[in-house]
Amino acid sequence: MKTILVTGAAGFIGCNFVRLSLSRGYRVVGFDALTYAGHKESLDGLGPNFTLVTGDIRDARAFGTALASHKPHAILNFAAESHVDRSIEDPLLFVETNVLGTANLLHLSLEYWSGLGAADKENFRYLQVSTDEVFGSLGDTGKFSETTPLDPRSPYSASKTGADLMVSAWHHTYKLPTVTTRCSNNYGPFQFPEKLIPHMIQCALQGKPLPVYGKGQNVRDWIHVEDHCAGILLALEKGKPGSNYCFGGNAERRNLDLVHDLCLILDELKPRARGSYKEQISFVTDRLGHDWRYAIDDSLAARELGFTRKHELNGGLRSTVKWYLENESWCKKVLGSGK
Ligand code: NAD
Repeated sequence: MKTILVTGAAGFIGCNFVRLSLSRGYRVVGFDALTYAGHKESLDGLGPNFTLVTGDIRDARAFGTALASHKPHAILNFAAESHVDRSIEDPLLFVETNVLGTANLLHLSLEYWSGLGAADKENFRYLQVSTDEVFGSLGDTGKFSETTPLDPRSPYSASKTGADLMVSAWHHTYKLPTVTTRCSNNYGPFQFPEKLIPHMIQCALQGKPLPVYGKGQNVRDWIHVEDHCAGILLALEKGKPGSNYCFGGNAERRNLDLVHDLCLILDELKPRARGSYKEQISFVTDRLGHDWRYAIDDSLAARELGFTRKHELNGGLRSTVKWYLENESWCKKVLGSGK
């Protein structure tokens, strides 16, 4: 049985990835600082092949101890400050966590990898989970792919780009076998309710305004988190060292249309006493430097890794809304944890 070490395991994508890896027969060690975005409740009931270590990716001693104790066959870095709005408020935290934290992981991973036996060394991977936001913003046409130049615009995307460049440097300079994945916007269960979809669902249910930036015309490409996680696992198992792979949902929506879709699903699953949830939509001042459009060409991942998607957006949104309706106690716990 192979052991993988997953940083950021208590976050949205991390906890979904842990579930998938356990179901595929891996032993998983989670490593997470349990910031406001990380919650043990998202990892309840995972069984004996899962261990959670509480630690910060910037803390060399804590991460070094986790490596020495658990001897992983691969390290996957999901840990990050991940919310663009927070990066505009507190950019230096994003530099510290995303850039310096990643450099710390690479430094210790290299030391660990150098000490492995020949077979383990050959098969080892350091996988960096990154975002399509490193490519900047598209106009009304075109798509990002693996060859698109990096052109980040927000402190969040700039810090993720800095991290990606560190990964590239460790691969080229020290031959550390790295793989980087870059994905579009994720949705699905266990997403902290500050991000667009769960935030809108919570506001709708609480009778609050549904805040849409600007005129709601910015376009995002949405992928179900389970499809993203399946792509990451493929990149881990089949990705070529030094490569990067893009994953998308092939499902572009203007933000306003997405919120309309959510309202229609809620109208059906949890009708208001009168009228539609659409009546709660309220336009608010646009985000500073708001990227216009993201879209991904993931044909390389399809060809080289066999990447496919199980979920299409309409069905995925419906099952996601249902999940939040059925897991109100999880939402209350994570929102009320006071972190
Ligand atoms: P998240 O904010 O839900 O979770 C981040 C996790 O990292 C949390 O559990 C948090 O406690 C942990 N963490 C934060 N700082 C840490 C530190 N210093 N040390 C250890 N742990 C720390 O984020 P997410 O949405 O699950 O995103 C996971 C990764 O995927 C991130 O790297 C993000 O950039 C990337 N990504 C996210 C999306 C998306 O749509 N959510 C899309 C593409 C890529």
